[in-house]
Amino acid sequence: MLKLTDNFGRSIHDLRISITDRCNYRCVYCRTGTNGAAYAELPFDDYLRMARILVGLGITKIRLTGGEPLLRKGIVEFVRDLAKLRTLDGKKPEIALTTNGHLLAEIAQPLKDAGLDRVTVSMDAVDPERFARITRVPNGYESVLAGVRASRQAGLDPVKINCVLLRGFNEDQIIPFGMFTREERVVVRFIEFMPLEEDRVWTPEIVVRLDEIVERMSEYLPLEEMTHEHSETARRYRFSDGVGEIGIIAPVSHPFCGHCSRIRITSDGKLRTCLFSAWDHNLHELMRRGATDEKLTEFIVKVVEKKEERHHIGEPGFVPASRTMVHIGG
Ligand code: SAM
Repeated sequence: MLKLTDNFGRSIHDLRISITDRCNYRCVYCRTGTNGAAYAELPFDDYLRMARILVGLGITKIRLTGGEPLLRKGIVEFVRDLAKLRTLDGKKPEIALTTNGHLLAEIAQPLKDAGLDRVTVSMDAVDPERFARITRVPNGYESVLAGVRASRQAGLDPVKINCVLLRGFNEDQIIPFGMFTREERVVVRFIEFMPLEEDRVWTPEIVVRLDEIVERMSEYLPLEEMTHEHSETARRYRFSDGVGEIGIIAPVSHPFCGHCSRIRITSDGKLRTCLFSAWDHNLHELMRRGATDEKLTEFIVKVVEKKEERHHIGEPGFVPASRTMVHIGG
C-alpha cells in the first residue's frame, strides 16, 4: 500500500485545503488592509478529487481553511462529500475547520450534521474594542463569540481558539484568555507569530514566546504540562484544578519540523509542502490538462518526497515564503 512519506522519513497524513484566499477580516498582523484575493478559487469538485486521491495515499485528517473558508457558498455540501471518503483503514477522515468565526453561528450545526468534527476559531483578544482594532472590522467580537458558543452547542468537540500574540499590542490578553478557557470551556492555543504577513513587520522581538506565555499565565493560576502526541504541534497545559486548557504552538522558539505531518493545497490548486516553501507545485494544471488519477498520484508522491527539512525563521539569509499566510491557508 502506497503511503505518503518524505525523504526524511516523515509520514504525511495531515492535509489542509484553502478554499479561498478572500477574507472578511483584515487582521493587522496578517493583511496590509488593502490587498484582497490574489489567487483563483476552484470548484469544490476539483478539491474533492484532490482530497480523494490524497486520502488514498494515507491522509487521515483534512482541515479546511483560507482566507476565510465560510465565505464560500457550498461549504456544507463540500464537507458532506469529504465525509464520504474513506481512509486506508476504512474510516471517515477527521474533518476540521479553521475560521475567524464571524459567520459561524448560523452554520455550525449544519456543518456538524454534514460531518465536520472539530473547529478552530481565531481570536486575538477577548475584549470587543481591542478585537475591532486587530481585525479592523467593527462589532465582530459578538458574532465570533456567538459562533464559538454555537459550535459547542452543535457538539463540535473540542472547540479550539487560536490566538497570535504580538508584543506591545495584545500580550496583555494572556490572562484574560486564561479566564476565557475556563468560562467558555474551550481550548485556547497561543501561536507564536511567524514571518508570513503581507506587511513584513516581523522581528524576533515582536514574538511573544512559549516560556514567557507559560510564566505569565502561571501568575494567574498554576499550570501543569500535559502529555502530547509526537506529531502534535502544540505543547498542552491545564490549570492545576483541572478547569481550562491552553496550548502553545511555538514554531519560532521550539520548532517541530522534525515531526511535521502536513501538506497543503492552496485555493488555486497548488500543492505546498511547507508554510515556508519558496515555490509550490501546480496540481490543478495537471488536472486541467486531463491527467489520470495515476498520473496525479505519481506527481504528488514525487512532490511530497522533496518536502523541506525545516524552516529557517530567524536565521541569517532567511528567504521569505513565496506566499503570505492568507494566500497559503493557515
Ligand atoms: N480566516 C481563518 C481564520 O481566521 O482562522 C483561516 C485563515 S487564518 C490565515 C489561519 C490562522 O493563521 C489564524 O489563526 C491566524 O491568526 C493565523 N496567522 C495568520 N498570520 C500568522 C502569522 N504570521 N503567524 C502565525 N499565525 C498566523
